[in-house]
Amino acid sequence: MNLKSRAKINLTLDVLYKRKDGYHEVKMIMQEIELSDNIVFKECNKIEVNCSHPFVPSGSSNLVYKAVELVKEATGVDAGISIEIEKKIPVAAGLGGGSSNAATTIIGLNKLWDLGLTDQEMENIASKLGADVPFFVKGGTQLATGIGEDLTKLTKAPKLWVVLAKPNLGISTKEVYQNLDANKILCHPKTDRMITAIEKKDIKEICTNVGNVLESVTLHRYSNVRILKSKMSEMGANSSLMSGSGPTVYGLCEGYDKAIQIAKGLGPLSEEIFVTKFV
Ligand code: ATP
Repeated sequence: MNLKSRAKINLTLDVLYKRKDGYHEVKMIMQEIELSDNIVFKECNKIEVNCSHPFVPSGSSNLVYKAVELVKEATGVDAGISIEIEKKIPVAAGLGGGSSNAATTIIGLNKLWDLGLTDQEMENIASKLGADVPFFVKGGTQLATGIGEDLTKLTKAPKLWVVLAKPNLGISTKEVYQNLDANKILCHPKTDRMITAIEKKDIKEICTNVGNVLESVTLHRYSNVRILKSKMSEMGANSSLMSGSGPTVYGLCEGYDKAIQIAKGLGPLSEEIFVTKFV
């Protein structure tokens, strides 16, 4: 069996405060996009996870391996599986690739092993793997609060093209949060306005209200992320923003031709560029 494991971008990412347990309370809107990895499931008498990408571990440190173990533990199934991850989503990029692979594994095993798990049960398993994993069980457009695991499905957003540009550096989400002072955030994105804009399918308002407080950390440290973001806007993207903790920057466009034109213009500045769209 083959399943697509799609990436996400953040339309908004707000940090409200640092909690007593050390986590940050967030409020963000995540949007599933078409860019995807391919996950290949094959019968096997033990758990095997392979990925040929140089920065993604094979075997038991892969998030997918942990997802298999958790599904077995939650359901009592005693079976093996061989999983091959064919990577296309840039790694450590703010696009949720590992989280998506883990959620797709839970969905895949639910089908293959005929487990009858509900979305809620799959989200509960997913939440043990990381804050962004439950989002990928249902995907689409969702509001995430808490540490990212309290999810509300929103109306499907109107179709927008997305230009993704990933500078040649990997960023640790943990490090970015460690360098954020939640008390010193000057400008918070207007997530409630974004929800209204999505409900009204108002493209102009969606593009006006994108915002990500983690830009204050990553753009400050890496000039190439800053340059990519301003180039996207200069070249005519309706808006441009960093996704998650970065370093990937995205530009939103109403038309495919404009997205392609921007992608071509960014060629010399970024090694990994994709044109994709909202799911
Ligand atoms: P997030 O925004 O959720 O932090 P990300 O897009 O920034 O995600 P990932 O691509 O998920 O980052 O990779 C983060 C780290 O997880 C990498 O260092 C990678 O080696 C490790 N990892 C473990 N399993 C996977 C997987 N299946 N796919 C990608 N990375 C994985």
